[in-house]
Amino acid sequence: MLQGIVVKAAGGFFTVRDDIGKEFVCRARGVLKRGQATLIIGDRVYFSAVEDTSSRAPEGIIEKVLPRKNSLYRPPIANVDQLAIIMSLKSPPCDWQLVSRLLVLAEKEDLSAFICLNKSDLVKEKDITKINELLQPYPYSVLFTSALKGEGIDLFRDKLAGRSSVLAGPSGVGKSSMLNALQPGLSLQTGTVSDKIKRGKHTTRQAELLALNFGGLVADTPGFTRLDFSGIEPAELSAYFPEYEPFEGQCGFRDCVHLTEPECAVRDEVGRAINKMRYEHYKYFMEELNKQEAY
Ligand code: GDP
Ligand code: ZN
Repeated sequence: MLQGIVVKAAGGFFTVRDDIGKEFVCRARGVLKRGQATLIIGDRVYFSAVEDTSSRAPEGIIEKVLPRKNSLYRPPIANVDQLAIIMSLKSPPCDWQLVSRLLVLAEKEDLSAFICLNKSDLVKEKDITKINELLQPYPYSVLFTSALKGEGIDLFRDKLAGRSSVLAGPSGVGKSSMLNALQPGLSLQTGTVSDKIKRGKHTTRQAELLALNFGGLVADTPGFTRLDFSGIEPAELSAYFPEYEPFEGQCGFRDCVHLTEPECAVRDEVGRAINKMRYEHYKYFMEELNKQEAY
């Protein structure tokens, strides 16, 4: 049997890409459909090739699905390795609180993440210096890029190579331009409002995983289009700030949530090992979660 990844799912047909990049249009065995709600893109499957399709595209039958490492909803994608958060430095300016919010959602799903600050061509050297100061220290890697000038694209490529990635970030920051700078022809399914109306509710296009020619997959639809923290308990939040980890267990109170408690080891490190701005976001999110709890 062959092994591959579902890269496209539409109308009961699944496009499965094998290890060497050959794609098979597959149907799933009945037992599979009953066993699991649905197969989604990113699912790793065992399949058998249908013989004698010489006149048509290769076909196959999916026999078995491997357990998922994780899965995202809206759009549904299984086995995502990482989230690439794209923001622009200017037009629109970077929304750091949104970055922290996306990072919390990524941590919750156990995805690694990095940040790409695009449109570096629009800012001066001193603006970059200021941002580097703001990020002293910062627990995620940050790349400066310009999709327009082709700057930093090689760093972005290195990050995506060999992994399955989902991009996130507001519209207009250059997500589509970044993909296109990497590999001409690759673009995000942006879907303007009028397109969505034209397509109607029932014909919404499914997300697809695009194969990168240097190895790796990237979803053609932005992830985390819903940004609320539903399903997160206030006491859970600190676990999604990885920079707190070395200090957990060192606070005066065992159940310390690092807000106003005395002898808080986390708060002691704010401005030192813990970024001040990140801690402000943490407090803001805590308030949001506590309000959520109250309803
Ligand atoms: P998306 O909505 O995040 O996919 O953003 P797009 O890729 O559609 O880009 C939005 C706008 O920003 C377009 O007009 C792009 O030409 C422009 N843009 C994208 N990247 C850059 C960049 O690095 N520098 C500059 N100056 N403009 C850019
Ligand atoms: Zn504490």
